Amino acid sequence: MRKKIQATDLMNRIMADYFYGLNEAATSGRQKVAWCTSVGPAELLRAMGFAVQFPENHAAILGATRMATDLIPVANAIGYSPDICSYLTSDIGAYLKGITPLSRAYPGIESVPRPDVLVFNTNQCRDVQDWFAWYARKLGVPCIGISSPKSIGEVTDAHIDDVAGQIKALIPTLEMISGSRLDLDRLRETVALSRECTELWRQVLETATASPAPLTFFDGTIHMGPAVVLRGTPEAVDYYKVLLSELEQRVAAGDGAVADEAVRIYWEGMPVWGRLRQHSELFAGIRTAVIASTYCSSWIFPAFDPREPIRSMAKAYLELFIVRSDPYKERYIKGMLAKFNIDGIIYHDAKTCPCNSNSRYGLPQRLEAETGIPSLVISGDLNDLRCVSDEQTRTNVEAFIEQLEEGK
Ligand code: SF4
Repeated sequence: MRKKIQATDLMNRIMADYFYGLNEAATSGRQKVAWCTSVGPAELLRAMGFAVQFPENHAAILGATRMATDLIPVANAIGYSPDICSYLTSDIGAYLKGITPLSRAYPGIESVPRPDVLVFNTNQCRDVQDWFAWYARKLGVPCIGISSPKSIGEVTDAHIDDVAGQIKALIPTLEMISGSRLDLDRLRETVALSRECTELWRQVLETATASPAPLTFFDGTIHMGPAVVLRGTPEAVDYYKVLLSELEQRVAAGDGAVADEAVRIYWEGMPVWGRLRQHSELFAGIRTAVIASTYCSSWIFPAFDPREPIRSMAKAYLELFIVRSDPYKERYIKGMLAKFNIDGIIYHDAKTCPCNSNSRYGLPQRLEAETGIPSLVISGDLNDLRCVSDEQTRTNVEAFIEQLEEGK
């Protein structure tokens, strides 16, 4: 049995306000709209007065509403392979079909807000640049961004100088589009709010170090919404104060998200958006709490510092797990296993997202040899449900959990 988090209603209202605000900005023309990749320079865009839309968030909603699988072939038909990012293909497919799940969820919204500028950061993958480039051609709007280094061990001053320089180089174009100059004090305030949001989000996730854990990975994928689309705003900060307080009360009361928690799992990789509920129920049904993940933790950016807004943004975007080398990733996951007292790891090998699938270069085997913590790789995808075998997932997960229980 899974327990509802009461703050969910408040979060739904905040997300609704965000989407209606975006829609208003785009339809009234009162505010310029920027599309931004999830760990792109959102702080800069907000500080410059843009309303910020995140296509990855839209694509995740396409996945969660199970609209994505039918839309992917539409993008395949214009030359975007079924093997590349299914966020990209489902989102472009939705555009070509003229549909969006936002219309159903938020009456009055007819389409995704049209952008005045597209701003990417390739820190996660090349697909985001290709994705935005398609819209730039289609809509005739400027596409600018940051080309990030990859597979970094230590984040050095040279890396930070490079990315900070690229962020600064975006400013003249953004000033031209927004029609106003960057106010450095406003940027400092925005970065300070992002820092506060990230700190609260870390505390929210770390309530799951308690046993039983008051929230699961599946809850986290929903409740990370404000951290993704509203970082740099007071709304996100206020929301996480409320959520944290509820979760702390749950910890104090010994109230677990999964009744009778017996096994604690770390999830490595993307969620399967169209199977969130099923996966949540599958694990809860075998007294297993999936309590920590790389994915949800990727929205923790300790580097944000209002005293050095641009350099600290560069550092935060570079320190992201997905940007780092395998030795770093192994150290990171090892730390998480100890912090959350984990019994086993599940790697989601997402067919169309190699960058977020860390089971392909021997990492699970190396980690298992070092820590003795067993792991299971499940094949699937974030949005393309044709890559997901429910029966195989269930059988493999149940056998894995049984094996962990026997080993305890
Ligand atoms: S990281 Fe993966 S899911 Fe995200 S945009 Fe890139 S390929 Fe798509």
